[in-house]
Amino acid sequence: MTKLPIRKDLVGRSPYGAPQLDVPTRLNTNENPFGPSPELVAELAKAVSELGSKLNRYPDRDAIELRADLAAYLNAESQVNLTASNIWTANGSNEVMQQLLQLFGGPDKSLVAFSPTYSMYEDYCRNTFTNYLSVSRNEDFTIDKKVIDIALDLTPDIIVLTSPNNPTGTIIENSEIDYLLEKFSGVLIIDEAYAEFRPAESPSALVKRSGHPNLVVVRTMSKAFSYAGARVGYIAANPEVIDAIQLVRLPYHLSTVTQAVARVALRFSHELQSQVNLLRQERDELAIWLVNQGFDVAPSGANFLLFGTFGDRNLVWEQLVEQGVLIRQTGPDGWLRVSIGTPEENLAFKTALLHVTNRTNGK
Ligand SMILES: *Cc1c(COP(=O)(O)O)cnc(C)c1O
Repeated sequence: MTKLPIRKDLVGRSPYGAPQLDVPTRLNTNENPFGPSPELVAELAKAVSELGSKLNRYPDRDAIELRADLAAYLNAESQVNLTASNIWTANGSNEVMQQLLQLFGGPDKSLVAFSPTYSMYEDYCRNTFTNYLSVSRNEDFTIDKKVIDIALDLTPDIIVLTSPNNPTGTIIENSEIDYLLEKFSGVLIIDEAYAEFRPAESPSALVKRSGHPNLVVVRTMSKAFSYAGARVGYIAANPEVIDAIQLVRLPYHLSTVTQAVARVALRFSHELQSQVNLLRQERDELAIWLVNQGFDVAPSGANFLLFGTFGDRNLVWEQLVEQGVLIRQTGPDGWLRVSIGTPEENLAFKTALLHVTNRTNGK
């Protein structure tokens, strides 16, 4: 067919997606490089075999048990006091975000995000006919009151803050979140996809939920939780928000298998901490190494680093792929993003980068 009669605003657009290349070292989509433990895998197999004979039935549409388990996880992780009524979950935080915009967005509404940031926000807006606006962060990728005031002047209905931010790794200071909560009465969405990697002194925005019914905190099992393949994302919010989302969710959106395997992984959440600590340490060491090689590195509270700058980042990216190392071209021109891998993968990245940029290791 030469021309499909598709929606006008989709003509000529390309779908979101990082290249999925089969190379030895894949450091491009911020997954946890460690797979689930053999003990967890054994429990997964057991759980799936037990529910196999029930797959003729639709799943629990409300995913109540999983939501209760997610609430318990957040209560322990962020010292808060949530119940299942505060939680909603779907196939990745991508789906929950889209549901939020189906609910709060629309042709007469606008959303502000702070660039550079996660490019999917613009796509959720497009999909829900919501007006997407973006305000530039400071040159060092931080957000301060001045930046927030520019956003507020646009009188948006929804503001999305990403902390730690992707692709820069930047943490939003508590004082900035307080300022926003004080000045903004629209829907404030804080995307905490990388929250588990944040520094100990930066509490989750979850602690600010009470007294602020307009605050929605987005989380995922795709990153620290080593579960990107399972597709489980969730939000913590006021029960009224959770109830209202039921208007836009598809019935039975979250499969019985997904609900069960997510619950098994949550039982193993104690396994995460040592991995998270190792990844943070590897991140900090890699940041120092990159600086010592003469690169600029954005301070990161996540499991990736944005570094640069390159006259031709595409060339560097391609040559790294030739060396078997896949990273990500994203963020402002000249910068590249590398996810933190296992110590072996990080070494492979450093070796390949030195090779590609012809730098000597300070010697
Ligand atoms: C990776 C990422 C997500 C996670 O999306 P899932 O659909 O849960 O896999 C959400 N927000 C940001 C900013 C991310 O980088």
